[in-house]
Amino acid sequence: MVGMRPVRDLSPLAGQSVVVVGGGFGGLSTACYLADAGADVTVVEKNEQLGGRASTLERDGFRFDMGPSWYLMPDVFETFFGHFDRTPSDYYEVERLDPHYRIFFKGDPDPADEAGATSDLHSFEGRERVDLSPDLEANRRLFEEIESGGGDALDRYLDQSERNYEVGMRHFVYEDRSRLRDFADWDVVKNARGLTLLGSMQDHVEKYFDDPRLQQIMQYTLVFLGGAPNNTPALYNLMSHVDFNLGVYYPKGGLAAVVDGLVELGRELGVEYVVNEPVSEIRGRRGGFVVRTENGREFLSDLVVSDADYAYTEQELLPPEKRQYDADYWESRTYAPSAFLLYLGVEGDVEPLAHHTLVLPRDWNEHFETIFDDPSWPDDPAYYLCVPSKTDDDVAPEGHSNLFALVPIAAGLDDDPETRARYRDLVLDDVAENTGVDLRDRIVVEESFSVSDFADRYNSTKGTALGLAHTLRQTAVFRPPNVSSDVDGLYFTGSFTQPGIGVPMCLISGQLTAEKMAAREKQ
Ligand SMILES: Cc1cc2nc3c(=O)[nH]c(=O)nc-3n(C[C@H](O)[C@H](O)[C@H](O)COP(=O)(O)OP(=O)(O)OC[C@H]3O[C@@H](n4cnc5c(N)ncnc54)[C@H](O)[C@@H]3O)c2cc1C
Repeated sequence: MVGMRPVRDLSPLAGQSVVVVGGGFGGLSTACYLADAGADVTVVEKNEQLGGRASTLERDGFRFDMGPSWYLMPDVFETFFGHFDRTPSDYYEVERLDPHYRIFFKGDPDPADEAGATSDLHSFEGRERVDLSPDLEANRRLFEEIESGGGDALDRYLDQSERNYEVGMRHFVYEDRSRLRDFADWDVVKNARGLTLLGSMQDHVEKYFDDPRLQQIMQYTLVFLGGAPNNTPALYNLMSHVDFNLGVYYPKGGLAAVVDGLVELGRELGVEYVVNEPVSEIRGRRGGFVVRTENGREFLSDLVVSDADYAYTEQELLPPEKRQYDADYWESRTYAPSAFLLYLGVEGDVEPLAHHTLVLPRDWNEHFETIFDDPSWPDDPAYYLCVPSKTDDDVAPEGHSNLFALVPIAAGLDDDPETRARYRDLVLDDVAENTGVDLRDRIVVEESFSVSDFADRYNSTKGTALGLAHTLRQTAVFRPPNVSSDVDGLYFTGSFTQPGIGVPMCLISGQLTAEKMAAREKQ
């Protein structure tokens, strides 16, 4: 596994009592490392279930993953479970998806393309659709078909992407680059290797591909990182290595099965879990902490780790004199998008949608502008449709499909009921027009989830779905650190801190936070 190194000595944590506030992936992962090191760990979660943004919604025989649905970087999961002498398959099964995903490009196909089209392109009733395959040769052919020389450009792009992945994982994801000095060292590594890391993704991709569709294929993963092509550093072209080379997988039972796996592992290691227990205050006391909850319970501990959103933890759970950052700091951050989500139980099949389908307007800049520059609801959205029932019989009743639609929108947008109702119709009309799947008269279960729900359910700042975007100024050393400089014994984990957004990154943040705690407690 690239970048993997042995977990540093965690033995100083033996015998310490630790409260972990929040049971998202970062909190669950940290809890496992701490308990394995001999700490006495209690995870205190606000909601009725563990998993955080990876919650599950069950309704009338349908089971929806409410948040993450792409299982990427399987090696990170292997490494995580490996530390505890387990494998992911001790808890859940994964299968590689074929196709990895499907893309519908909105609008009429270009007649010039139509003339030379083969079965890889325009393969559905005049709609322009492509499949990204686990077979690299098939992807090469597709790229060549869309743009002459595209196949070779794909090879060169993936070569660069793989090298960025290696450097990124080794020097920067698995290493806790919390000091500027370390970052400078990493910069030297970068220069020595001649890698493209700091320009924008847009500039980087344009060096390889002219066709906007190919540019979009290489850039859609930025939405996973909460960024846009013009504000995300080119370093993150490593995501194409993740996507094309490492592959896209599905854990049977959905991401919920992975949450269950982590919870079960934690139990085996001795972690205690308390749900329905919103923490209202973290207070220092002589030699430790008292963590109070809204229900009037108190948990005493030597150390505290917060997996709840960083901005919320500092501003709502700590007294003002104990905060590292003021309100202006949090106001000036670039937040990753929120989302408008529709969870739909649908009668019948939803051919020609794949397990993962993206529907993209030809010019998606306008959509990104509505997220980062001029917050508003996009009129012509780029969006994602997930149909896990294509792969898993257990997530929908027989004869039905389980589908969710996800439109990234600006954090902090007003999502009053009228706007949501209007937008719901816009999305369903758009799906019918651009994929040919008319869902409108066969929906049997329907729930929506958006900005205010992220804020209410997860205490998410501005209702962001993902946390702090991975802009250059919010990458590595520039992300809020996993150790508080103002409160001895208080630590952070999860997507707001290092290394960042996404389930694999949050698993790694558990390791980095536990290592930082052990190093501190040894002093
Ligand atoms: C819609 C969506 C789609 C995504 N898709 C993908 C994907 O396909 N692949 C991928 O890898 N990643 C994806 N992500 C990102 C990924 O889900 C997150 O980065 C990750 O799950 C965040 O984990 P976390 O540890 O930061 O904490 P969170 O999941 O945010 O958990 C924090 C926990 O703290 C709890 N909490 C808050 N306040 C309190 C309090 N006062 N007291 C007690 N508990 C509290 C919350 O209830 C929550 O359970 C997606 C996210 C979303 C929202």
